[in-house]
Amino acid sequence: MILAGKVALVTGSTSGIGLAIARAVAAEGAKLMLNGFGDSAEIERLKEELGAGHDGADLSDQGAVERMMARCADEIGPPDILINNAGVQHVSPVESFPPDKWDWILAINLTAVFHTTRLALPAMKAKGWGRVINTASAHSLVASPNKSAYVAAKHGVAGFTKSVALEAARDGVTVNCISPGYVWTPLVENQIPDTMKARGLTREQVMNDVLLAAQPTKRFVTPEEVAALALFLCRDEAGSITGANLSMDGGWTAA
Ligand code: NAD
Repeated sequence: MILAGKVALVTGSTSGIGLAIARAVAAEGAKLMLNGFGDSAEIERLKEELGAGHDGADLSDQGAVERMMARCADEIGPPDILINNAGVQHVSPVESFPPDKWDWILAINLTAVFHTTRLALPAMKAKGWGRVINTASAHSLVASPNKSAYVAAKHGVAGFTKSVALEAARDGVTVNCISPGYVWTPLVENQIPDTMKARGLTREQVMNDVLLAAQPTKRFVTPEEVAALALFLCRDEAGSITGANLSMDGGWTAA
C-alpha cells in the first residue's frame, strides 16, 4: 500500500472524478477526508466504505474552507495529499452570463484552490513531502463558446499550479494539474439541457456533435482513468513531475 500513513483530502469527492480519486487513494492506504454535497445516507455509506471522514464545506465560503482544513488537521492530520477537484459549470453566452454565476464558478473552481493550498502547504513543507493535484480541464488550455467563467477559472488553475510548483520545488512538494477532456459524470450530464437550449440542438446532437466532437477518440474519459493518473502523481517516482498540466483528453488539445 503505497499511501499507508498518508492523509488525503479530496474536495468534491461525493461524486464523479473526485469519488474515483478518493477510492483510489483509500485503496492504497491513505487516511481520507471527503468533501462535497449529496444525500446524507449516501455520504454515510461512502464514509463507511472508505473508512473516511467527511466535511460538507461549501467551498464558495472562505470561512467554511478554513474550518474544513482545521478539522482535517485535528481529526486525521494535515493533508499530505491535497486533491483540489470540486468544480461547477454554467453555460451561457457572455452577454447574458449571470454575474452571480460568474462569482460562484470563480469561487469554487479557482479561489477555493488558493485557500486550501495556502493552508495545506506549511505542514507539507515542514514534513518535506507533499502532493497537490488540481483537477483542471482541457478548458485550462483551450476554450469553448458559452463557458467564459469556467474557461477563465480553469486557465487560472493552470497558472496557479505552475506558480505554486515553483515556490514549493525545493521542499519535496509537487504541484500539478490533470486536464481531462469530457468525462462522463453528473457535471457533464447536467450541462446537456443548457447546451441544447443555447445552441438549439437535440440531446444526441449535443453528445456527439458538441461534446465528443472535440475528442478524437470519440469516447468519454472515465473517472477511473483520471484517478489512476492522480495516484501515479502521489508515488515517490513522480517526484520530478511538478508544475505540469497533464492532459487526459483523448487527443482533444493535440488538434
Ligand atoms: P461532479 O458534478 O460529478 O462532482 C462535483 C463534486 O464537487 C461533487 O462532489 C459536488 O458535491 C462537489 N461540489 C460542487 N459544488 C461544491 C461546493 N460549493 N463546495 C464543495 N463541493 C462542491 O463533477 P465531475 O465531473 O466529477 O468534476 C470534478 C472536477 O473535474 C471539476 O473540477 C470539473 O471542472 C473537472 N472536470 C470535469 C470534466 C468532465 O467532463 N466531467 C472534464 C474536465 C474537468
